[in-house]
Amino acid sequence: MKIESVRTHLLDHKLEAAFESASMRFDRRQHCLVEITCDDGTTGWGECLGPAGPNAAVVAAYAPALVGRDPLETERLWLDLYHLLRDQGQRGLTVTALSGIDIALWDIKGKHFGVPVSTLLGGRFREEIAAYATGGFRCVGGDRIADLAAETSGYVAEGFHAVKIKIGFDLAEDLTAIAAVREAIGPETRLMIDANHGYDALEAIQLGRKAERYEIDWFEEPVLPERLEPYLAVRAGQPIPVAGGETWHGRYGMREPLARQAVDILQPDICGTGGFSEMRRIADMAALAGTRLVPHVWGTGVALAASLQFLAALPPDPPRPAALDPILEFDRTRNPFRQAILTQPLDHVAGKVAVPNAPGLGIEIDRAALAEFALRG
Ligand SMILES: [Mg+2]
Repeated sequence: MKIESVRTHLLDHKLEAAFESASMRFDRRQHCLVEITCDDGTTGWGECLGPAGPNAAVVAAYAPALVGRDPLETERLWLDLYHLLRDQGQRGLTVTALSGIDIALWDIKGKHFGVPVSTLLGGRFREEIAAYATGGFRCVGGDRIADLAAETSGYVAEGFHAVKIKIGFDLAEDLTAIAAVREAIGPETRLMIDANHGYDALEAIQLGRKAERYEIDWFEEPVLPERLEPYLAVRAGQPIPVAGGETWHGRYGMREPLARQAVDILQPDICGTGGFSEMRRIADMAALAGTRLVPHVWGTGVALAASLQFLAALPPDPPRPAALDPILEFDRTRNPFRQAILTQPLDHVAGKVAVPNAPGLGIEIDRAALAEFALRG
């Protein structure tokens, strides 16, 4: 079997209502899928985290090095591609583009051997994953506090046992928002807060101290990801567990935060940190450091399927009866093509998502939906 072609699909939808985190405004949803086709007709799908057009450009730069190669040699291909742009790469788009390619190659490998990727990774520890609802962005032009209360109580009514909201805008307003959400979701639902690196260290420490009484599971990306000293200060200076890692790419990007214990919870994204090949190594590194792993997930059903396969095979840590199971980030913000591009949506039932059983990622792509949401012009 040889790789015949590598192409990208840019998906696009202009949002009816824009929303924002502390670091980004979303007027459109855009995501980049990777499709790799082999000479025997096998096709694999992957996805790249981050801006669709730039990811597609880097995938195109990698493509000539893939054509004619054996798609089953995932490790050799990963290293060859990484080395191709190593001198100007190492993190960012060179790794997010490589992630989409690596995921597509593992999809092909699973289809070739007739097993889901979770089996290739060593087998499943679980058949379904508890999900937390990600939302709680600031709607542009809305009433933030009232919107948040209505949105998050809706997730609880849908059956979710955990929700995450966005903060990092303004300390006083963020605290009002957290209080309103805790009131709306009741005492039993787990609550996480994500500042998308909108604070400096002193603000984050203040926020964490004042928000402790609302029983927060974790405080995500309190400060800028390039600076580890503020991360350490936040971890030491306030009582809520600190999470981060969605913008740290590859094993080298994870090494220092893990070695210095900058976070309680590491959040690599399989579509950003190097695909299945690198995610396995990062999971081992996190286990060595004794740091909990909760992957970041933001994208289409392809990203969701890849994350589910990975989470199914993630060993319980520590092992025990009724082990602490991993949790899946389940984006609930507006994205009409997220599930539409799958012939069978990966939806939750009472806050849990079943791991697909079919070979590879376990999904089939709806090409009519790809055409419907294709970026024009
Ligand atoms: Mg985040």
